[in-house]
Amino acid sequence: MNNILSERINNLAVSQTLAMAALARELKQQGKDIISLSLGEPDFNTPDFIKEAAKQAIDDNYSTYPPVDGYLDLKEAICTKFKRDNNLNFTPNQIVVSTGAKQSLYNIAQVMLNEGDEVILPAPFWVSYFEIIKLSGGIPVEVPTSVETNFKITAAQLEAAITPKTKMMWFSSPCNPSGSVYSKEELTALVAVLKKHPNIYVVSDEIYEHINYTGSYCSIGSIEGMENNTITVNGVAKAFAMTGWRIGYIGAPEFIAKACTKMQGQVTSGANSIAQRATKAAVEADPSQIKYMVDAFHKRRDLVFGLMQEIPGFKLNNPDGAFYVFPDVSDYFGKTLRGTEIKDATDFAMYLLAEANVATVTGDAFGSPNCLRLSYATSEEQLIEAIKRIKDAVS
Ligand code: PMP
Ligand code: GLU
Repeated sequence: MNNILSERINNLAVSQTLAMAALARELKQQGKDIISLSLGEPDFNTPDFIKEAAKQAIDDNYSTYPPVDGYLDLKEAICTKFKRDNNLNFTPNQIVVSTGAKQSLYNIAQVMLNEGDEVILPAPFWVSYFEIIKLSGGIPVEVPTSVETNFKITAAQLEAAITPKTKMMWFSSPCNPSGSVYSKEELTALVAVLKKHPNIYVVSDEIYEHINYTGSYCSIGSIEGMENNTITVNGVAKAFAMTGWRIGYIGAPEFIAKACTKMQGQVTSGANSIAQRATKAAVEADPSQIKYMVDAFHKRRDLVFGLMQEIPGFKLNNPDGAFYVFPDVSDYFGKTLRGTEIKDATDFAMYLLAEANVATVTGDAFGSPNCLRLSYATSEEQLIEAIKRIKDAVS
């Protein structure tokens, strides 16, 4: 069959986050007592005020094709949000609303990259960046980091990765999977390098912006000199517990926004009308309205970080945001646990699934082959039990 399918699809890797989540679901259906820490998905319900806006939209007959780039009043609300939270100045013609931040990222790759263009990816990076870039003809250039440097790149590393073919850099802060948050000072140091290369564009994926325990947040696009070179990506999936509603958006230089709209107009049209109305309520809300969820994630972070430090051979950073821990488990590579040889993080993840009934995601998927990603967006009870099982399985 593979010779019938396109080379494009044959060369595309399966999303390992979704694959592990599907495997965990399947095992659960077979009656296994699996705890899934694989998928990055809040365990909260969408807040009532957002659900009410969607119900109202149905009654108000928001049932026809919406504008391809999003309703004007939603784009205006997004501009206000960008100013309020990020000190970013956009007008509605610079905003494109899409079917999830994933489509926003895909649009960007499709409209920005030519065959052979290089895209710098500080590793670990979110799993889909790599494949989306490849799918669009780009060449991902990984810049490795480690737990010792809190998984952040330095200006010197960025400088060394730039070649005449570098077109873009993509990163997330808070980072999925490491939870690292770049401070204003750290971003300013990267900007000093980028300013020497005005043809390089940055994708700043800020989807975990509100799930940040540092007390401050800086968007790279708000740093002087970056306003015309940054595409800021955001969405409602994580902070508003709206993963299934499928809305993401960008703020970008107008010519890029227009190009994304043109692309989207041929492949999906405007994003779901009811979900757009719900998103308007979400982005207009004061962030204090979702604080109860952020506080819960913060508490779980403390719990998980504390418990995981007790597992021998797990080296981890204290993640400042998002809802993942990303331990370096390379101490186990080359060892045999209960008759299973652990060569790499993928073996380790499969071992934990089989022996501990805990689903995690291999760091390989994120460009950090020494690590394992665990999502703590689940109840404290489940987290305590999962970590106990992992500890037992490696002892
Ligand atoms: N970027 C990052 C860093 C993510 O973790 C995710 C996870 N879903 C996305 C983008 C995609 O978000 P969406 O669900 O809005 O497509
Ligand atoms: N972003 C989430 C994750 O990293 C959801 C899964 C996905 O979209 O790949 O787990």
